[in-house]
Amino acid sequence: MQRTLQQERGGPLLDESRRWSSIEALVADMRTPRLRPVINATGVILHTNLGRAPLARSAAEAASLLATGYSNLELDLRSGKRGSRHDAVAHVLCQLTGAAAAAVVNNGAAATLLMLAALTKGREVIVSRGELIEIGGAFRMPDIMRLSGAKMVEVGTTNRTRAQDFAEAITPRTAALLSVHPSNFQVVGFTERPELSALAELARQHNVLLLYDLGSGALRESRAPGLAHEPLIAESLEAGADVVVCSADKLLGGPQAGLLLGRAELVAKCLKHPLARAVRVDKLTIAALAATLDLYITGRDDQVPVWKMIRADRESLSARAGRWAEGLNLAGVPAEVRSGYSAVGGGSLPGETLPTTLVMIAAERPRPAQLLDRLRLQSPPVIARIEDDRVVLDPRTVLPDEDERLLQAVIAAVR
Ligand SMILES: *Cc1c(COP(=O)(O)O)cnc(C)c1O
Repeated sequence: MQRTLQQERGGPLLDESRRWSSIEALVADMRTPRLRPVINATGVILHTNLGRAPLARSAAEAASLLATGYSNLELDLRSGKRGSRHDAVAHVLCQLTGAAAAAVVNNGAAATLLMLAALTKGREVIVSRGELIEIGGAFRMPDIMRLSGAKMVEVGTTNRTRAQDFAEAITPRTAALLSVHPSNFQVVGFTERPELSALAELARQHNVLLLYDLGSGALRESRAPGLAHEPLIAESLEAGADVVVCSADKLLGGPQAGLLLGRAELVAKCLKHPLARAVRVDKLTIAALAATLDLYITGRDDQVPVWKMIRADRESLSARAGRWAEGLNLAGVPAEVRSGYSAVGGGSLPGETLPTTLVMIAAERPRPAQLLDRLRLQSPPVIARIEDDRVVLDPRTVLPDEDERLLQAVIAAVR
């Protein structure tokens, strides 16, 4: 841009036709959307850089339907009176999780902040030193707690904390016990965490709240072959958490949003807090979330892309990888299949991997790092990764209708 402007200002150095083509190229570049679809061949299902959960088609259609017109977002059609935007999803969320009440805000971080600000401001909140996590993007639990006005009281150690540690820290100034799901790391070895139910009992005995930042917000059992159990929202409420907060675009597989679920008077108190307005969600998010939840409530959660990817069976992955390798070889791009692993990612199921079949690009030129760059500059861009000094492509996260475009992009990038 600067160069073209300088050339223009500096007088007619180029002939007329070269001037126009340079200006046209500049305009075309300026008009290329900076945000656009990419093909995720990384095998990381919930990839934060790539927008986390892809939506189910029905969720995208529901948002699209609402986008270009008016809706009853805050109008109760029966009474004609003002309604609440949360009503569009609250009853289904309660049905799916057993919560007495539910609300939806901008994201998981907002839900955590709102919960703490509305329910614990100016009072003490007890949290394990092993759960003072950083999620990324400067979301650090101690900072969020300070921002909410809660007084953080740390107990236990990095690797071991017991219910007794919480018990000893409870005072008349205590508002809540806070449990945080260590969603993006694992502490292995000599470790101990109190059961949520033990904390719930303690909270009841002392008449304080038990708040739980669950992180991923799974609605269904995540046990795919080889995958550990991720705590479910329903289970956490059942264990006695008074309020659970989580993201809607991690294992739930919906649009970016944060959920607050739990006791009715507590959720209501959160919604009355001024911060609730600052972190509220728009109609498109609510429409997409409602349509995603509808897939769960009607037992069609296998249509949620995140779950389709998690549950993709090994035979179909390996057959697809085989077809890709064959297609690439036919086009003169040396490629081989090999076994490897995909990851759930996005602060869910840390350290857990899913066996997959990768396609390895065996071309000597371009070098792997350069090939990775070139793939990213294709249209559509292809995001891949390097393993053992080779670019590998994982079919698990490539959507079913993207195969052809992926192969064309790889062929173009290798040439
Ligand atoms: C992901 C996560 C958050 C933040 O949620 P966002 O939806 O990314 O804002 C907060 N706490 C935990 C434990 C998480 O895993």
